[in-house]
Amino acid sequence: MTNAPLRLSLDSTALVANWRALATMSGSAACGAAIKADGYGLGAVEVVKRLAAVGCRDFYVATWAEAPAVASLGVSVSVLHGVREEDMAQAGAGRARPVLNTANQVARWKQAGGGPCDVMVDTGMNRLGVSIDDVATGLLDGLHIETLMSHLACADEDHAMNELQRVAFTGLVGRTDARRMSLANSAGIALGKDYAFDLTRPGIALYGGVPRSEFAGVLHQVVTPEAQILQRRLVPAGAPIGYNAACIAPTDLDVAILNLGYADGYFRGFSGKGAALFEGLRLPVLGRVSMDLIAIDVSVAPLLAEGDWVQLDYALPMAAMASGMSQYELLTGLGTRFERRWIS
Ligand SMILES: *Cc1c(COP(=O)(O)O)cnc(C)c1O
Repeated sequence: MTNAPLRLSLDSTALVANWRALATMSGSAACGAAIKADGYGLGAVEVVKRLAAVGCRDFYVATWAEAPAVASLGVSVSVLHGVREEDMAQAGAGRARPVLNTANQVARWKQAGGGPCDVMVDTGMNRLGVSIDDVATGLLDGLHIETLMSHLACADEDHAMNELQRVAFTGLVGRTDARRMSLANSAGIALGKDYAFDLTRPGIALYGGVPRSEFAGVLHQVVTPEAQILQRRLVPAGAPIGYNAACIAPTDLDVAILNLGYADGYFRGFSGKGAALFEGLRLPVLGRVSMDLIAIDVSVAPLLAEGDWVQLDYALPMAAMASGMSQYELLTGLGTRFERRWIS
């Protein structure tokens, strides 16, 4: 898309630096990348190109629809949701491998010839995965397992579940023919080397999310929304601004209307809470976020005019607190109307 009035500025240097930092924290384990939901909203193909160029080898998508564009870059792709009957034709082509999650998926894969696969074991989250008992009773025998994995439920907290899951997963070492074992997502990497096993699978932290305080100052912001000013107007003291007159100008205000709204993933939680940034100035959001528009106070920026661009304050931990959304939602909600522009 060209000439869009809103864009995402995407920082290649920051993305690569984040992956390198996570790879270092992963110690001797390899460091992969979760790129589901179109690379958490950034654009999976562009993310993979940049990470593959610096040595990332293992990529994770959620569904088979997400696999071909990435697999065509020649990298290793695993499909986290495994194989339904409907997926078997595509899975059999061998360009990506399934992460088998259920006894049915295992049976389906074996029956089809059982090429290379990954397997998810449930160590306590009770979301996806075969059980530890299934492993003990030989369900996985005969599979060609590349990576045996499990997923942490509470890695972003100091929770007793972390150690329980780590111990349960450690109990599976040597119990299968899997070439590698993998437990840690982004937050799991910060829990220490005991959680890294052979391969880590960060997602949010690659993209500048800060799921644990250990990452503060280590990770860099990657994504910055920018929007163009459609109109600048003077709103006199006492006049309302936007839907439901939720904001009444306390004094005469210079207001700019931006080409950005909740349909773009700039959620309604930013109403009266978010801010734009311009040359170090903070320009608060006034009133409700509309579907396609927001109003900001530009009284401190007399030169900003129709057609100018401003950035949105999208430092993820703070933006999540301001909006009441998770850092994950703030990234994956970013819509299709943005021009995605990679810088540096
Ligand atoms: C999404 C996902 C990840 C990455 O999680 P983050 O919290 O974004 O680092 C890793 N493993 C699995 C199985 C996932 O579903």
